[in-house]
Amino acid sequence: MSVEGTLFMVAAPSGAGKSTLVNALLEREPAISLSISHTTRPPRPGELYGRHYYFVERSEFEREVAEGIFLEHAEVHGNLYGTSRTMVQELLAQGRDVLLEIDWQGAEQIRRSKPDCVSVFILPPSRAELERRLRGRGSDSAEVIERRLRNSRGEIAHAHEFDYILVNDSFENALADLQAIVRAVRLRGALQWQRHEGLIADLLAAEA
Ligand code: GDP
Ligand code: ADP
Ligand code: 5GP
Repeated sequence: MSVEGTLFMVAAPSGAGKSTLVNALLEREPAISLSISHTTRPPRPGELYGRHYYFVERSEFEREVAEGIFLEHAEVHGNLYGTSRTMVQELLAQGRDVLLEIDWQGAEQIRRSKPDCVSVFILPPSRAELERRLRGRGSDSAEVIERRLRNSRGEIAHAHEFDYILVNDSFENALADLQAIVRAVRLRGALQWQRHEGLIADLLAAEA
């Protein structure tokens, strides 16, 4: 039987570089699966259904909430976002590590149902740089950017609830930090003891 995978959660104020860092991490660590969220937010140019999000109408999202399909869900920047329960649970049961890009409210819900999850919060190096990145991304209207900037304090105020906090100043350093977290978590004694049961049994066996 394979050892159950680890559930990772990454949160950040919008524009801090979360998705860019997560995508680069997944290229380096292909054994991690990214959970694709459901959202009522309209797609940005270039975003694809089933790849970036499952884009749904609010009425459909609300029906899915009532059906209990979400492991967690929350309203963020005026849109609804949620993580599908079955996808995450099946992957974890197969021994895959799963990564969720979620907000602090979702992270709080996940911690209650899965206390052994590992959470990472990403800070921008300054307020001015956060604003520069949000505007520079060129994906949102001025009004949406203002709203996301206003909401950034509310998100950052919860950073202390996360197991790890990293600052995305130099992208390469932040990526190395994120990868170091994932690698250290995988080497935790309780997991390694199960993974290497055969090896440890051999090493402990009495001499013939
Ligand atoms: P960006 O990630 O800031 O570029 O913008 P998005 O519009 O893609 O996401 C808005 C917020 O919703 C982000 O802070 C995400 O972390 C959060 N989010 C995305 N998917 C989920 C989800 O399934 N559940 C929860 N709780 N939050 C989500
Ligand atoms: P989030 O998912 O947190 O909203 P994104 O990953 O979309 O943020 O990043 C926001 C913008 O900032 C993107 O245009 C991205 O290329 C840029 N960015 C991300 N990390 C850095 C960094 N370390 N230095 C400069 N720009 C960055
Ligand atoms: P964006 O709309 O820029 O793609 O995402 C903005 C924010 O939505 C993210 O930074 C994240 O906090 C939140 N978000 C995205 N997916 C989920 C999700 O599945 N659950 C929750 N709770 N929040 C999400």
